[in-house]
Amino acid sequence: MSNRMQVEFDAKSVNEGFARVAVAAFLTQLNPTLDEIADVKTAVSEAVTNAIIHGYEDREGQVYLSCEISGDTATIIVEDKGVGMRDVKQALQPFYTTKPDLERSGMGFAFMEAFMDDMEVESVLGSGTKVTMKK
Ligand code: ATP
Ligand code: MG
Repeated sequence: MSNRMQVEFDAKSVNEGFARVAVAAFLTQLNPTLDEIADVKTAVSEAVTNAIIHGYEDREGQVYLSCEISGDTATIIVEDKGVGMRDVKQALQPFYTTKPDLERSGMGFAFMEAFMDDMEVESVLGSGTKVTMKK
């Protein structure tokens, strides 16, 4: 038996807090520990921030966030229809960033990988990026 939610919101930084709280609220049915919730919130923040600042680069757009619970596993998907990436493998390297000027450290994907049990990134240049994470 599974349970799924999906929300769509404007790609604006002001919505980052909403995204992390929405996922956290949905996951309370799994009776997570505070540490688990903190990990998921961090990972969702990083993925949503990336969608907004890299995916859409200040242009208007929508971020698609979903969370599916199956057994005691949560699968979270953050998707944008922005610029996409030429080389996902390179983007996943710690400290790799295309925006060093904006005080980016290039650690977002490394955090997502560290805080979640599994992470996959699919991206098509010019059409967008989909990050799938499991906990
Ligand atoms: P930090 O997350 O530490 O602030 P960062 O966002 O640059 O810095 P990562 O989150 O690891 O670091 O992302 C690495 C790089 O991957 C980014 O600099 C960007 O070039 C690319 N990237 C990440 N997410 C997306 C996305 N949704 N669309 C397009 N490019 C992306
Ligand atoms: Mg980032």
